Amino acid sequence: MAKKKDLDLRSLVRPNVRVLAAYEAKEIPVKVKLDANESPFGFSIDKSLLKRIATNRYPDPGAKALRAAYASSIGLKDPSWLLHGNGSDEVIYNMVCTFGGPVLYPVPTFSMYANIAIAIGERAVGVPLRDDFTLDLPAFLKKIKSERPRLIFLASPNNPTGNSFGDEEIIRIIEASDGIVAVDEAYQPFSPKKGFLRYLDKYQNLVVLRTLSKIGLAALRVGFVCARPEILHEVNKVRLPFNLNTLSQAVAVSVLEKPARLNASIKKIASERKRLFKGLSKIKEIKAFPSDANFILFRAAGADGIFKKLLEEGVLVRDLSRAVPGCLRVTVGTEKENDKFLKTLKRALK
Ligand code: PMP
Repeated sequence: MAKKKDLDLRSLVRPNVRVLAAYEAKEIPVKVKLDANESPFGFSIDKSLLKRIATNRYPDPGAKALRAAYASSIGLKDPSWLLHGNGSDEVIYNMVCTFGGPVLYPVPTFSMYANIAIAIGERAVGVPLRDDFTLDLPAFLKKIKSERPRLIFLASPNNPTGNSFGDEEIIRIIEASDGIVAVDEAYQPFSPKKGFLRYLDKYQNLVVLRTLSKIGLAALRVGFVCARPEILHEVNKVRLPFNLNTLSQAVAVSVLEKPARLNASIKKIASERKRLFKGLSKIKEIKAFPSDANFILFRAAGADGIFKKLLEEGVLVRDLSRAVPGCLRVTVGTEKENDKFLKTLKRALK
């Protein structure tokens, strides 16, 4: 039998996937890890809870207890207005899968909106933010007219810039769009603003995305889409049947049911953000951007070199200079971590 020719495996990959780059999450072991917007405060898992978990059974596909606990924690009247995902990443995936493109979003923002749209074969359209990272509303409205997006993502507070968009501007976008507007509130718990859950009743095309990743449970991968049941009924058709494992569901419920520690950790992060911002603002070589999130974006000449010097001393931040020229992003850590970061940064700048 003739030997089969080597396959060109890359040529089998759909062209839109071939051009993508995988999401890069650096796994560098460091003493001070401030690169991924995680909370520095974790939660211990009760042994009795572990004992109750039936490893031989599939998880609850509807995550009923979790949805009830989360609905009550955010003051949502009914868990039927919530659908769960394996992180909000998966929720974004399911939203794009359900509604398709064109998908519209500001730039810079969370990279997965574009990545997922492209992976699924949909058109991804970015609208540049202004230099001060506010929404360029006229440009956005113009694109809504010309592209007629089926789905718009607005992260507010935005990643990586940290600012929230104006409520009025977001409302103008919701009103101008015939498609779905997903306000991604991954960082809402750290923001002084009220957020958009309160508008779900009013606007038919609004959905709000939430996650437990930034408030101490990143390891569990729990995210939600909050929307009217007619929307969730459709999104639920593309959700994989057992997308959220039993352990994650159970641990998340136990944390949400005793919110004191959770709330205290959020408060602590917000106060540390204030201190960190003050510290950064005092450094004349740095321009720090105000943030409503659990991270701060800052600009410095030679950002690349600073990133490396910080890393050499065991402090990992996020190098964003490709997305936002000259910028690094630091997650708010514990008091000790933030002090170590500031001290190391000052040394790196010398
Ligand atoms: N949305 C935004 C704006 C984010 O920054 C992130 C995480 N970087 C996510 C969603 C995804 O979060 P997760 O999948 O951990 O819930």
